[in-house]
Amino acid sequence: MAEKVEYPTVKSRTLTLTHDIPISKTKKYWENLRNGKVYALKCMKCSKVYYPPQADCPECLTSQMKWIQLSEGEIETFTKVSLKPQGFEQHKEDFIIAIAKTPEGAKVMGWLENINVENIKLGTRVKITAKTMHDGFPAIILKPT
Ligand SMILES: [Zn+2]
Repeated sequence: MAEKVEYPTVKSRTLTLTHDIPISKTKKYWENLRNGKVYALKCMKCSKVYYPPQADCPECLTSQMKWIQLSEGEIETFTKVSLKPQGFEQHKEDFIIAIAKTPEGAKVMGWLENINVENIKLGTRVKITAKTMHDGFPAIILKPT
């Protein structure tokens, strides 16, 4: 009889149902988020950068991927969230979600902190980090440099 194999997972936010997200090949990404770092995977053959990380390059059909840290970027778009979606109701204050484009070509979505919405400009340079929120979930944090 075959033994049952356990694959690593992380918990999603509480929605109507929670589910386990399989992360076998991207475990390093989740571990690094806990350490404040955001990583992407880069294909060793075609150099394409995948973020969120993908274990295999769909272009080259290879698993020869290299982890690279994404540490800075420029604001490409942002939105202020006043009406909190399910799972985020405990965030009393409005918050800003932005997408930063990195020099590696990745687009990283995260919480934009330390800036007022009136002062955000497209192209604003940000540092990319991660932290564990009050609810225990890791979040990507963008802060103007
Ligand atoms: Zn490739």
